[in-house]
Amino acid sequence: MDSRSIRKAFLDYFESKQHKIVPSAPLVVKNDPTLMFINSGMAPFKDIFLGVSPVKFPRVADTQKCLRVSGKHNDLEEVGIDTYHHTMFEMLGNWSFGDYFKKEAIEWAWELLTEVYNLPKDRLYVTVFEGDAKENLAPDHEALDIWKKYIAEDRILYGNKKDNFWEMGDQGPCGPCSEIHIDLRSDAERAKLDGKVLVNNDHPQVVEVWNNVFMEFNRKADGSLEKLPAQHVDTGMGFERLCMALQGKTSNYDTDVFQPMIQFIAGQCGIAYGKDEKTDIAMRVMADHIRAISFTITDGQLPSNTGAGYVIRRILRRAVRYGYTFLNLKEPFLYKLVDLLAEQFDGVFNELKEQKDFVKKVVKEEETSFLRTLEKGIIEFEQYIKSVKSVKKEVSGEFSFKLYDTFGFPIDLTQLLAREMGWTVDMEGFNKYLQEQKSRSRAATAIDTGDWIMVGAEKETEFIGYDELEAEVTIIKYRKVKAKGKEQFQIVLTKTPFYAEGGGQVGDTGVLENANEIIFITDTKKENNLIIHFTDALPEDLTKSFIAKVDSDKRKETANNHSATHLLHAALKQVLGSHVNQKGSLVNAEQLRFDFSHFAKVTDEEIKQIEEIVNKKIRENIALNEKRNVPFQQAVDAGVTALFGEKYGDFVRVITFDPSYSKELCGGIHVPATGQIGQFKIVSESAVAAGVRRIEAITASKAEAFMNEQLEIVNEVRSLVKNQDVLKGLQAILDENTKLKRDIEQMILQKASHIKDELAQQVENINGVNFIAKQLDIPSAEAIKNLAFEMKAKIDNLFLVIAADIDGKPNLTVMLSDNLVADKGLNASQIVRELGKEIQGGGGGQPFYATAGGKNLSGLRKALDKAKELVSK
Ligand code: ATP
Ligand code: MG
Repeated sequence: MDSRSIRKAFLDYFESKQHKIVPSAPLVVKNDPTLMFINSGMAPFKDIFLGVSPVKFPRVADTQKCLRVSGKHNDLEEVGIDTYHHTMFEMLGNWSFGDYFKKEAIEWAWELLTEVYNLPKDRLYVTVFEGDAKENLAPDHEALDIWKKYIAEDRILYGNKKDNFWEMGDQGPCGPCSEIHIDLRSDAERAKLDGKVLVNNDHPQVVEVWNNVFMEFNRKADGSLEKLPAQHVDTGMGFERLCMALQGKTSNYDTDVFQPMIQFIAGQCGIAYGKDEKTDIAMRVMADHIRAISFTITDGQLPSNTGAGYVIRRILRRAVRYGYTFLNLKEPFLYKLVDLLAEQFDGVFNELKEQKDFVKKVVKEEETSFLRTLEKGIIEFEQYIKSVKSVKKEVSGEFSFKLYDTFGFPIDLTQLLAREMGWTVDMEGFNKYLQEQKSRSRAATAIDTGDWIMVGAEKETEFIGYDELEAEVTIIKYRKVKAKGKEQFQIVLTKTPFYAEGGGQVGDTGVLENANEIIFITDTKKENNLIIHFTDALPEDLTKSFIAKVDSDKRKETANNHSATHLLHAALKQVLGSHVNQKGSLVNAEQLRFDFSHFAKVTDEEIKQIEEIVNKKIRENIALNEKRNVPFQQAVDAGVTALFGEKYGDFVRVITFDPSYSKELCGGIHVPATGQIGQFKIVSESAVAAGVRRIEAITASKAEAFMNEQLEIVNEVRSLVKNQDVLKGLQAILDENTKLKRDIEQMILQKASHIKDELAQQVENINGVNFIAKQLDIPSAEAIKNLAFEMKAKIDNLFLVIAADIDGKPNLTVMLSDNLVADKGLNASQIVRELGKEIQGGGGGQPFYATAGGKNLSGLRKALDKAKELVSK
């Protein structure tokens, strides 16, 4: 069975059991401080499990893109080394939200595996939770009894809390689980050793394929468990592992999910797969990592230096480094795999195909720059080996950490390089530095979140901010959070006019007030769909009602910028082309920032056109057309700009400014009609990453103030140049300036040549030396230098000293004939330094020509006298 049919069979099966089949959520998580990437099929449904969002369909199934490279679930170091953990993998899942429970989940899992997929029953094992005394949890007899109906009892194993109690994170929904494992070893091996003992023992051919979680509890901040109001089922089956089992393979990489890519890599490198463990691992790493890299980029996360972007950058570097070290790939290569991948996921995750060129460009650019860093690091390493005297031939922990930290060298690369030179690495030292860094960054990001404390009984909070800026509200619950030593409170209200940060738009600020007190709301954010208001202090009486008031000026300016962003987006597509796609945006009261895919700098002419279009749309005063609760598919069919990387519910909000101009899915706040924006002005255009440009712009009074400032500058210039036509006035001054410069140079040259003749007549012969010392009225060091050299050519045995006032500063020049230097041992540098003392200065030069500058103009005369004394001695 090929992988496409395997995926389809899963979805078809659960559809036949009345499950709603939903698309995969994007990998990149927004609005959840505890999670960077989706790491399991349940993560996109967290809000439902937490009771924050209503259940739309009680039964759901899907294939979800998952990434396990950070946080609680991190398999990165295993990937490629073993054959069954990936960075990005698909998790096939079925869910019951307060609907069916253990009985159906187990029955269907078994039926699907053994009767639809026809997996041999004698290769399967299942586990159930053995209970935990400390947590006061009994063994899961219920699951055990159900399993006994389907599978021999000696194939049912008890598992401890680590394997059989699933938790999403340190806090949140959790419960016992029941796993299904498969033994893929040969008959001979199975006869030798019972597969039972290998379950949950990291054997590459006895692996867990499916986990059925029975969500019953909520883990609180203090570690205690409380029963959830409703019970749920959350299951996750590793798609690639299932393919391995169904295609009779013993490695995920031998299935049709990975083989096309592995074979492509092998072909390009001229190294066969399956010949050598080292090169095999490298090929697996590359074939695996490009999936994680490509799908995170399409889902809206570019590689960068911080946070989620840095995780992606590290995955990419790990792949490049394996290729570089073991497959001799010294040029960018990974990006070539994107075409194959896009083809493979065509019809499954279409987003890659649609952004293929962009992804390739980003990946290639990242590869190029990392390869450069790698080469620099290797040179650094070689210099280190040469320069360091280590009797033990050991690379220090400090240096290996530097390679790791600044050049992105994983420690095994440093070890490999060291080994090749007959050296070792001080691993203890390295680990010490690494630990220090880790605890530093942990301390910097640690957030201490308290439990919710209930005040009111309401369950849901309603957002009314599209229509109201004020409302009477009460508090449902609050909690204390502490980050970077600062204590804050988060409050949930019965209803709220406050917009929570999202879709690039900042959260609202404002107040909660009643007759007795006033509390400032400093920010509003969403966490798993829950609207949270931030304050520095709690009200005295939490049970009273309040008027919640949004800061309306700030809100209005923000709305101007948000609507202008939509107008800009449409104008960009018109002027630059339909390839322009939003890659990020920030909208606040001050300005708007819009990142988009485009491969060249936006020219001044294009900027002008874009501004013209947007300002025209503003003047047209187009009324806002806002449609809430539009079915997602209906909106997409109507040609609405939908962004990949945004997770949309089944119903969306569509914002239209002139149906033939701008239609976007958007949850943000907009102007009632575009005229309110007043004016739009682009203030900068720049690059943010390969193939991504950024435009920053301002609107309304900010744009007006900006234009006025520019005009004021022009006005000031106009009055300075004393010409109504500023450009003409300025050009006249510039022309005059050029002419004056030419004249002055000419004059100085003329003067200098007159002076040359004059000077020649002043020669005094002292001790066989032709001595001249004179103060000249030439305010140019360059002209004096020329003069001195000409004098040297003209007069033998010359000892020339010139004093001058150059722009108010004393200057001395000494020029000697070569024979005086050679025969008499005279030195112009020494002489000028000696004379320089008289003008409080210093200088130097060559033995025959030297100059000095100083502070004391009146010392010039003395300096000349001193020169004469020197010669006369
Ligand atoms: P394992 O112990 O093998 O790492 P797990 O206990 O971490 O698995 P779950 O969190 O229960 O796995 O995830 C559900 C299913 O997802 C697993 O049964 C497995 O088939 C699959 N899975 C988990 N992690 C990975 C991974 N890194 N790559 C591929 N499939 C995975
Ligand atoms: Mg795991």
